[in-house]
Amino acid sequence: MQNKLTNEIKYLPGVGERRASLLASEVGIRTFGDLLYYFPFRHVDRTRIFRITEVTEEHTSYIQVRARVMNITTQGAGAKQRLIVRVADSSGAAELVWFKGIKWIGKKIEAGREYIIFGKPNIFKGALSFVHPEVELVEHFLSRQNASVQGVYSTTERLTTSGLGSKGIYGLVCSLWPLVEEEISETLPPYIVEGCQLVDLRTALHDIHFPPSNEALRNAERRLKFEELFGIQLGILSRRSSRTTNSNGFIFNRVGDHFRSLYASLPFPLTDAQQRVIKEIRADTVTGHQMNRLLQGDVGSGKTLVALVSMMLAVDNGFQACMMAPTEILARQHFASIERFVENTPAKGCVAVLTGATRAKERREILAGLMDGRIKILVGTHALIEDTVQFANLGFVVIDEQHRFGVEQRAKMWTKNQIAPHILVMTATPIPRTLAMTLYGDLDISVIDKLPPGRKPIRTRHLFESQRLMLHGFIKREIAAGRQVYVVYPLIKESEKADYKNLYEGFAQLTDEFREPTYRVGAVHGKMTNEEKNGNMEDFKRGITNILVATSVIEVGVDVPNATVMVIESAERFGLSQLHQLRGRVGRGGEQSYCVLMSGDRLTREAKARLGAMVETTDGFRLAELDLKLRGAGDLAGTQQSGEPFELRIASVSRDSQIVEWARRVAEKVITEDPTLSLPKNRGLAELRAQYSGKEQTDFAMIS
Ligand code: ADP
Ligand code: MG
Repeated sequence: MQNKLTNEIKYLPGVGERRASLLASEVGIRTFGDLLYYFPFRHVDRTRIFRITEVTEEHTSYIQVRARVMNITTQGAGAKQRLIVRVADSSGAAELVWFKGIKWIGKKIEAGREYIIFGKPNIFKGALSFVHPEVELVEHFLSRQNASVQGVYSTTERLTTSGLGSKGIYGLVCSLWPLVEEEISETLPPYIVEGCQLVDLRTALHDIHFPPSNEALRNAERRLKFEELFGIQLGILSRRSSRTTNSNGFIFNRVGDHFRSLYASLPFPLTDAQQRVIKEIRADTVTGHQMNRLLQGDVGSGKTLVALVSMMLAVDNGFQACMMAPTEILARQHFASIERFVENTPAKGCVAVLTGATRAKERREILAGLMDGRIKILVGTHALIEDTVQFANLGFVVIDEQHRFGVEQRAKMWTKNQIAPHILVMTATPIPRTLAMTLYGDLDISVIDKLPPGRKPIRTRHLFESQRLMLHGFIKREIAAGRQVYVVYPLIKESEKADYKNLYEGFAQLTDEFREPTYRVGAVHGKMTNEEKNGNMEDFKRGITNILVATSVIEVGVDVPNATVMVIESAERFGLSQLHQLRGRVGRGGEQSYCVLMSGDRLTREAKARLGAMVETTDGFRLAELDLKLRGAGDLAGTQQSGEPFELRIASVSRDSQIVEWARRVAEKVITEDPTLSLPKNRGLAELRAQYSGKEQTDFAMIS
């Protein structure tokens, strides 16, 4: 783009050096083009003015009232200083509060004059207040007002105090438009614009900032969202197409002793779902193309076994296999269960585990065993990625609980043999279809949709702090019946200190209530050494301790069939999929299991919805969809609170699922016909693809 769109933003009238550097550091706007593509995150109908008493708790998004300033006061001093402005209309009174930019606002507002106040209402004990609203004299508002639908731009504290609140940014866009209007050229080929009935780019960009009507706004959004999602899909599908057209995959066409003897010695029949997935993997591994498959299955659905069967297939064909898990505990647990399963197969004694805690001597032996082929199956943590870990002939890689690994780490495993090994990524976090299409669009997807038979659905209850005694009674009954209990505390970086305090206090409270020798309470958390952690985990597994207090480290994978109760403390602080993962730690044996969600009394509406959903259903896919909806629709006032798993400019994977699917279909057609995007009619699409490539490669950790 050799045109005005690449001009530095400081040259836009009204910006200058200081604001330019703020725009860059706060919201990443560096050029005219960046500003043009800085879309309003929502639009409001600015013709609607509420009366103060009309505003209720139902009004959770931006509204405006028209009110006169009664008095202006400041409270507190220094950093605690607040500016309080009382306003009233004929129906009632409200309070406006500022914590920052007090001097600037104080100068701007005059007692006795009437303003339009625009912001997010808070209602507390029946009284209406606004924190950091926008205010504008009524006469200014009326003279300026022409568009009925107006954009609200996300902004930050620092920008706002420099006069670049939403309205200030809107002002910049107004002065930008006439300068760049002529420079905007269409990015999509005419046959797509027409075929998809899209508005042209210039119209879309105009209407997203200055919508003449609601309909025009919808068309602009539709066009821009399509372009974004289409650009991403072009990248994903190109990668997939080059993977499936290159003949570079190992071929596993032999079914031998490893596979057969494992099958024969299984203590239970595989479920239909497990068998189907194994078939899919077998089909993939005889095509001569590299397999890249995502295996989704709810916690406890038996993914590990599917992985093991597939690894045995690799071994039968003369290859080695490895399995990477996100934590030490989990890696050791996989190792232990794999060792048991291969007891009566030729792989006995050929399985090893490698983690960061493996001692130097053992480590050397393992590395040698990998090189000479004695070790056929290696289980481990991130330690497997290191360059020193070299295989004689690695053919199959399993990555468990993908969301703990970045995409780069996944890619690193590709380089462990001359030809990339087949990759099976497993996740228990159910990923809604449209999200999977965007995050993992280059992977094939298998789903285990049925749990092994005989599992009883877990019963879930939500209790408040005041019902803790009831909880204790319940735990005692379960322990008396011979069962074990997890108690999990949230642990978040930002509040680590306070979180540990809660955990220690909770632990003290429990050991006080559940006294030795009748009861034994253990703990695992991040402040312990690996040895302590493993020891305490081991005690719990062996049934020596009745209660295990933990941070969310046990979230992934731990398997103690005798544990039937999962208590989650401060449950309102966990995300829905995390709650579901934790709940999946129980209900693994034949006994009835329970999940108890403990929470404080005051919950936000969203927290209530989350806990309610947990009580209502145990279906992981439904919960994941709900989670995405709850978060995707979250408050968007700031810049980084969109709740989306990764940064998109305008589209939302959760809310625009239809456009995701549509963009995918169109991209599929294009790539099938023209894999390298070199036909004349597709001119410009390679550029579009490059512009969006890499967007989807964000660590999945963000939505877990
Ligand atoms: P996931 O990794 O999907 O959470 P696991 O592979 O850990 O699940 O399996 C959970 C438990 O179910 C394990 O104890 C496993 O041995 C058992 N299991 C796996 N497949 C079956 C099956 N087909 N029938 C009965 N139990 C099974
Ligand atoms: Mg597992």
